[in-house]
Amino acid sequence: KKLDLTKHYLVVGLGVTGLSCVRYLVARGCVVSVIDSREKPANIETLKAEFPNVKVHLGSFDETVLAGADVLVMSPGVPLATPAIRKAIENGAEVSSDIELFLNEFTGKLVAITGSNAKSTVTQWLGETLKAGGNKTLVAGNIGLPVLTAVDEAFDVAVLELSSFQLELLAELNADAAVILNISEDHMDRYDSLVSYRNAKLKIFNGAKHIVVNRDDPQTYPAAGVDAEMTAFGVNDAAASGYGLAEIEGRPYLVRGDQPLMAEADLALPGRHNTSNALAVFALADALANPVAATVSALKDFAGLPYRCQLVGEKDGVRFFNDSKATNVGSVLAALNGLAGTGKKNIILLAGGQGKGQDFQPLKEIVDSACKAVFLFGEDKDKLNRVFPAAEVKNTLAESFAAAVQLADEGDAILFSPACASFDQFANYVARGEAFNELVGGVL
Ligand code: ADP
Repeated sequence: KKLDLTKHYLVVGLGVTGLSCVRYLVARGCVVSVIDSREKPANIETLKAEFPNVKVHLGSFDETVLAGADVLVMSPGVPLATPAIRKAIENGAEVSSDIELFLNEFTGKLVAITGSNAKSTVTQWLGETLKAGGNKTLVAGNIGLPVLTAVDEAFDVAVLELSSFQLELLAELNADAAVILNISEDHMDRYDSLVSYRNAKLKIFNGAKHIVVNRDDPQTYPAAGVDAEMTAFGVNDAAASGYGLAEIEGRPYLVRGDQPLMAEADLALPGRHNTSNALAVFALADALANPVAATVSALKDFAGLPYRCQLVGEKDGVRFFNDSKATNVGSVLAALNGLAGTGKKNIILLAGGQGKGQDFQPLKEIVDSACKAVFLFGEDKDKLNRVFPAAEVKNTLAESFAAAVQLADEGDAILFSPACASFDQFANYVARGEAFNELVGGVL
């Protein structure tokens, strides 16, 4: 839907995305106002200072305000199923979003990335890869940079990380290349089932020219009848075609079909899940015809993003891993599988926070076989404790950390991989990650 200056745009939700929408719509000359159910959303002062004439409705999603809008520019944090929003849509309001407004104007190539885990890692990694290939590349979206902040600059390629909440708001994406990296349970506080969560993610393939899927996770495949080129990646079984892992002269290699690309040991990022991520990057880079030499060198150089199973210190043979971004079971599984030594119980796991309605049971087997101890804290500590009855329950991350340090011996790893959202005790996963780093700093 193109911008229409005769319409009234209502920005729903005043987070960073909402603020970027207001800036964009005002700059394009639209009639715009804002609504947020919170009394005091974080960006209210900025908004008032920058746009004293933009009307703001706070404290609730007022039905009369919503009824007065032609287009609801939704923030991903506000569910479409919110009763007042649903009613406005039923009464004829159109739905739009920052991503749609951006794509209306964007003329470069588009790569769209989603998944339950690894989105930011692959998005950033692919961004570096395409830059190495000489493309002026925008890396934006859910990774933390709202797309509209970059709408006035010309890019050859945009690599967008898209959450299921952002995808819900889009009709056709028409990406040049699109991928679902993996699907595991997440956000069960907003979806009624894994099926509806996956359905939101599947929208990423609408109109895509090239689709990349994960052979190790059948849920990442599009529904039947989607017409696009398709390539697959996976680390578990060697495939005759597509991207995989094969043993060559006794060493694991990333391969494309039967062609070796690079040794797994040359990746700077450790852990098999990151090898899987690297193969996804390769498949996407090839779909955009990036020079292979540039792709290989970028894959070798990328050292990862902070708070993703990041080694942040070592003392007396004890390593400290900060995995604050592990906000669901799938990411903790990847961390434990990556760090587990064969037959050794050398991991001390710190977990807890808001569980988002997840089932923690899938962690049980690997925790039992690889963890020396588990310390739990935060809102859902008791729920976690029911799955891990041998764990020790604390109140805070700091208490858990102190107990872990007491217990750790040479050769152990203290892994902070919470499996939960942070909002009960921290502003977000970054603040939580910083808190862990400070605790580590205190004992180094
Ligand atoms: P997202 O943007 O999807 O949250 P991130 O790249 O920020 O993804 O990583 C989130 C968490 O998932 C981190 O704990 C990271 O170590 C973990 N992770 C990274 N790659 C994978 C993967 N392929 N499978 C499972 N977990 C992964």
